[in-house]
Amino acid sequence: MNFLLVNPWIYDSAAYDFWLKPIGLLYVGSVLKKLGHNVELIDMLDRHDEELIKIKEPKDKKYGTGKFYNVEIEKPEILKNIPRKFKRYGLPEDLFIKKLLKQKERGIDGIFVSVTLTYWYYGGLKTIEKIRGIFPNTPIFLGGMYSNIYPIHAKKIFSKYNVKVCNGTGLSPIRKALSTYKENVPEFNWFEELMPAYELYTSKLPYVVITSSIGCPYNCSYCVTPRMWKYQYKSVDSIEKMINKIINEKNVKDIVFFDDAFLLHKDLKKLLKMLAKYNVRYHLPNGIHAHRVNKEIAELMAAADFRTIKLGYETSDPDLQKKSGGKVTNQDLINAVKYLTDAGISNEEIGAYIISNLPGQSVKSVKDAVDFCINLRIIPTVNEFTPIPQTPDYDSLIENGIIPDEVDPLLFNNTLIPYWWEKGMNINEVFDLKLYLKNKKKVLFNGQRT
Ligand code: SF4
Repeated sequence: MNFLLVNPWIYDSAAYDFWLKPIGLLYVGSVLKKLGHNVELIDMLDRHDEELIKIKEPKDKKYGTGKFYNVEIEKPEILKNIPRKFKRYGLPEDLFIKKLLKQKERGIDGIFVSVTLTYWYYGGLKTIEKIRGIFPNTPIFLGGMYSNIYPIHAKKIFSKYNVKVCNGTGLSPIRKALSTYKENVPEFNWFEELMPAYELYTSKLPYVVITSSIGCPYNCSYCVTPRMWKYQYKSVDSIEKMINKIINEKNVKDIVFFDDAFLLHKDLKKLLKMLAKYNVRYHLPNGIHAHRVNKEIAELMAAADFRTIKLGYETSDPDLQKKSGGKVTNQDLINAVKYLTDAGISNEEIGAYIISNLPGQSVKSVKDAVDFCINLRIIPTVNEFTPIPQTPDYDSLIENGIIPDEVDPLLFNNTLIPYWWEKGMNINEVFDLKLYLKNKKKVLFNGQRT
């Protein structure tokens, strides 16, 4: 059969290609190909799309990141009172239509669309609206994190376009989709055997995103990862095959690991030694476990040429560290930074994630965490908390009546929450924090950067 994969537009007040590739959808492509089907991809977020670059030349920034093509659009009714612009990020609409019409000539048996962040469902909806216009009767399957976290919402909202919501992880959503054609999907170790189908890109790839593991054995109260996936990792041999293929077929200089628990890989030393064989840069943008960094690991990371290293930190408050899952202590962060810099990794490449607007968290507590990072001469990145269904923090907020049940996921966009959530930080406090962070970073960059 002929299948089409579509990575949808993003509708948001801000979005940036900070290494965004539809890795789950690309795995779906690999499974479909293994089953003998023909697969093609329309990635609405491909900044190097061969037709898009004729309209606008993409400018790659550091390590292949960059701005998406975007247009401002009218806000949906629910966001009307929030004083932020709303934009559509990704291919222009007429280019999308042209691509869909070309696909129609090929004859398409089914279309897979995947929505990752829950508050990006609106982009998925708008994308599917266009697809339905061209393919009125073709089965459309919706997967991705959003449909796992909000299956009831997804079924309700997307029923308008007769979409089959295929929630679940691993092979389960593909099984649900292919049951439409009465096709069985045999059980196999897809994560070990397969890799994301990057061969579906005909355009230039400035970077690729892969994972050496899925899930995380920790259980942080705000994080949905352990509720979605059983922690598993790929063998070093299989990761090596994947990297070989990528380097031979795509001339990439940057390989990004999107693992949630990269440093917990059972054969970590072997993995890092293998990575050092290749002349590429590696990045860890998802927050690594600081306590796993020791002298030897840091030296192996430096030898392999790891550049962007983000440490999962979240807060400098020891009580909150323990209460939210115990993945890190302040001493872990101090040690990790020392080992990494002693190994020769520049402070400019090391950062730590800090969470703000956790229930009950004060502005001062966030500032303390920022100061802690600045004192270690690493870059703090502050991310605002968003309540995610199925997490303990979300359940407790609902139980205590702190957030209403059945909030439209669009409103859970973390940059929009302070505009309406009266019990969290207000927008002035958020602006104050942003300014504080900006000034602190300025000092770090001007005064001490090497
Ligand atoms: S350590 Fe990271 S990935 Fe694991 S549960 Fe905590 S926040 Fe999630």
